[in-house]
Amino acid sequence: MPRRRCRRFFSEFPAFPGVVEFTPEELEALRLADIEGLTQVEAAEKMGISQPTFHRILKEARRKASMAIVGGATVNVYGDVFRVFVCSECGYSWKAPFSAEFDRVECPKCGNVLFFEFPRRRRRRGRW
Ligand SMILES: [Zn+2]
Repeated sequence: MPRRRCRRFFSEFPAFPGVVEFTPEELEALRLADIEGLTQVEAAEKMGISQPTFHRILKEARRKASMAIVGGATVNVYGDVFRVFVCSECGYSWKAPFSAEFDRVECPKCGNVLFFEFPRRRRRRGRW
């Protein structure tokens, strides 16, 4: 039988304003670092910025994500965020509004259906 769990102490949960707003670059930083598992140097290179700048953007994005989760706030994104899709059948590429909800999208040219999965987390040493 496992040992009984030690008691944990919590301070009061803070209340945040109802909406936490992300910039598109903050979402991209979260995606590259936490979903794709790139190092900060690799991710900064992809975004065309320096590693210290990437670090600053990522830190702010994580703070906002924590505020949204812990404070139960609604998440908003500034401006219009688009994703670029490339059809694996016909090579056609198009833009569609960003949405975290879909996992499949249809090519407007040939009707080929593209499926999406979250990339597997890559294990790395010395990531930070
Ligand atoms: Zn196509």
